[in-house]
Amino acid sequence: MNFFRFILFCILFYFLYRIIKSLFPSRPPSGSRIVFRNDNAAINEMVQDPQCGIYVAKKDAYANRVGTNMFYFCSEECYRRYLANNTKI
Ligand SMILES: [Zn+2]
Repeated sequence: MNFFRFILFCILFYFLYRIIKSLFPSRPPSGSRIVFRNDNAAINEMVQDPQCGIYVAKKDAYANRVGTNMFYFCSEECYRRYLANNTKI
C-alpha cells in the first residue's frame, strides 16, 4: 500500500514538474541577451573598498552586508576592520 502511494506521489510530482516547466519555458525570451550583457557588465564593474579605498573587480571582491547596505572589500580582513570601525551599524 505504501509503495502504491509512493508511485502515485511520483506521478503527481512528474505532472507538477511538467506544469512548472510549461510556465517557465527553457527557451529564453528575446530580451535575455541584453540581460546577459548587463550581467557581464556587472561582473566587470569596479567597486571601491570602503576600508582601504582600493578598487577591486566586483567578481573578485569580498562582498558582504554591513547593516542593510552591501559593501565590497578587497579582502576579508578589510571587511573585519570596517566592521570594527563601524560598530554602531
Ligand atoms: Zn581593502
